[in-house]
Amino acid sequence: MQLFDVVIVGGGPAGSSCAAFCAVAGLRTLVLDREKFPREKVCGDCLNPSCWPVLERLGVAQRVRDLSHSKLRSVEFIAIDRRRVIVDLPSCADCEISVKRALFDDLLLKRARELGANVHEQTTVTGLSRNGDWKIETDSGQTFQAPMLIGADGRNSTVARFCNLLPRPARERVALQAHIPLPRDFGNRIVLQFLPEGYSGQAPVNETQLNLCVVGTPPTISILRKWAERQFDLPANQSWRTITPLTRSPIRAAHENLFFVGDAACVIEPFTGEGIYYALRSGELAANAIAKILRGDDRNSALREFSRAYAQLYRGRLWINRLSRAAVLRPQLGSFFIDTARFNPSILKLLTAKIVSPGR
Ligand SMILES: Cc1cc2nc3c(=O)[nH]c(=O)nc-3n(C[C@H](O)[C@H](O)[C@H](O)COP(=O)(O)OP(=O)(O)OC[C@H]3O[C@@H](n4cnc5c(N)ncnc54)[C@H](O)[C@@H]3O)c2cc1C
Repeated sequence: MQLFDVVIVGGGPAGSSCAAFCAVAGLRTLVLDREKFPREKVCGDCLNPSCWPVLERLGVAQRVRDLSHSKLRSVEFIAIDRRRVIVDLPSCADCEISVKRALFDDLLLKRARELGANVHEQTTVTGLSRNGDWKIETDSGQTFQAPMLIGADGRNSTVARFCNLLPRPARERVALQAHIPLPRDFGNRIVLQFLPEGYSGQAPVNETQLNLCVVGTPPTISILRKWAERQFDLPANQSWRTITPLTRSPIRAAHENLFFVGDAACVIEPFTGEGIYYALRSGELAANAIAKILRGDDRNSALREFSRAYAQLYRGRLWINRLSRAAVLRPQLGSFFIDTARFNPSILKLLTAKIVSPGR
């Protein structure tokens, strides 16, 4: 049995951010992830500008800029009838970029390691129990013990499931994602395209590859895949990554000696491309609270402070999430909105500016 101050299940952006800040605070920190990094992840690969301040505090902003990436200059919204509206993105130094998750997540996990966190890859959590401290069992046969446990293990969180906190999945949508050859003259734009059966998101991730996502329901996803094969001239044996659900109820982030961060706590509609920011920032907030609790500060005030900051993170933003979900669940409605925006694009510009405003 190996002892730590904090065990973090999941080494995505939420887990790595939390681990890095815990390690900096001097805590004996362990990250467990079932995958071997670098690993891909179903995602649009877009980094919202609000990530930059957290990346600066993690000391990796320059290293992220040094990764192979694309600077994104505009969003093109395409309605079902193929009418389109283009909204420019801010062109500041720390603008919206797209970078493959294999590169980005690997860099963050390396940073956590560099700052002193222990990382065990290819280690799946298979059991949890609590008798004072948490006891964490894994498929490698190793067992770990810690007073603090973090669920940073994504939307289908095993930690939440073992604690009977995972909401029942709704009848839900499914996403497919692939990196495909970048079409000529695609440009530095994000494309958000409504289709009768769902929607597609597209963004270049470097000079040769396009991130392509399609989102639909289980009965329609094969129609969307066929649309993508035709649209981008893909072979029938194109390999796709897949994920579900795209929406689920949130889980309370702070419990006694247990925190949930990133998607494990709250799943954001992917259409707006903000999930990585919430993962990074919620990981940082949880680390601050844990460091205070473990060094003996008043637990209740640390938890109150965390809950306030966590609520602040989402305040005034979830309506955008709901609005975009309403649009993507009824693509005809989303398309109507785009058709209307052709004559008065100010509302679309305003929404886009709110989503990509830097330095939140
Ligand atoms: C189609 C789609 C497009 C998206 N596009 C964007 C976008 O463009 N921009 C954006 O910001 N966000 C986007 N998102 C959201 C974004 O992908 C997530 O919000 C983000 O990955 C959350 O990070 P996380 O660290 O919480 O979880 P994850 O990145 O899911 O990491 C969880 C980690 O936990 C590990 N794990 C899980 N279970 C176990 C276990 N039992 N034991 C050990 N390890 C385990 C997994 O291997 C994984 O590495 C998109 C999402 C979807 C579905």
